[in-house]
Amino acid sequence: MELKDTTIVITGGASGIGAAMARRFAAEGPANLVLADRDIDGARTVTDEVALQVSGQCVPRQLDVGREGANEALVGDVEGNVGPIDLFVANAGIATGTSEQGDDVTWDLIWDINTMAHVRAARALVPLWLERGGGYLLTTASAAGLLTNLGDAPYSVTKAASVAFAEWISITYGDRGIGVSCLCPQGVRTPRLCPPDEDGSTAVLAADVVRSMNIIEPEVVADAVAEGLADERFLILPHPEVARYAANK
Ligand code: NAD
Repeated sequence: MELKDTTIVITGGASGIGAAMARRFAAEGPANLVLADRDIDGARTVTDEVALQVSGQCVPRQLDVGREGANEALVGDVEGNVGPIDLFVANAGIATGTSEQGDDVTWDLIWDINTMAHVRAARALVPLWLERGGGYLLTTASAAGLLTNLGDAPYSVTKAASVAFAEWISITYGDRGIGVSCLCPQGVRTPRLCPPDEDGSTAVLAADVVRSMNIIEPEVVADAVAEGLADERFLILPHPEVARYAANK
């Protein structure tokens, strides 16, 4: 798909991969760009930064994507006040660092954010896109959704479910004009993976598995996404070796 003159929504756009995608997409000259995040100040910082490259509205919105009704409200708000959504990027996500021993509150929370947010966004978008004859959904899953994430069972399960959901939407509606891409990176140097330490620098988290990864910059992910969207490729793998790992599995 072409990003020029489109209306784009990115959840989790205040930081990391979402912010990098916002900067990369802004360079293509979209008509409108909406960055939705629970961190409204972070989202506003990024929209302020790229506003000049966006011909229409470049605005932040505050929401918790894990809350029932939030994605539907966001879609309604953007459609009513900004413009018809061409590309919706369901990117916000969390990790838990727990196992099967994690309690139900933890499992429910990550399920709502990493998986159900995608379902709820699609629930609002698909009828509009079918009526208009087109639209594009990009979901940020993870290589963990194709492989696993040692040390985080809820993350592995909810990302696998988000890959499955993206596949289902693509297969079900692809011939009716709805495009889908599913982004599955491995380690990316963002605050989620590498939180700022006390002196303000970033430090890679202790887990050996994380340290052993090929950790790439969010800008590299954003470039891979722009290329994947231009090709309308379903699976976007900024770490190409993940394709081999998945085949080996
Ligand atoms: P990040 O923490 O830098 O950014 C995530 C953003 O999402 C933040 O701005 C945060 O405020 C927002 N967010 C979190 N929960 C939210 C909620 N309930 N409602 C609204 N906004 C919310 O993290 P990131 O690494 O950029 O992660 C972005 C996506 O990429 C996530 O889905 C993550 O699982 C996925 N991912 C990250 C990596 C990695 O190594 N960083 C690897 C694979 C996949």
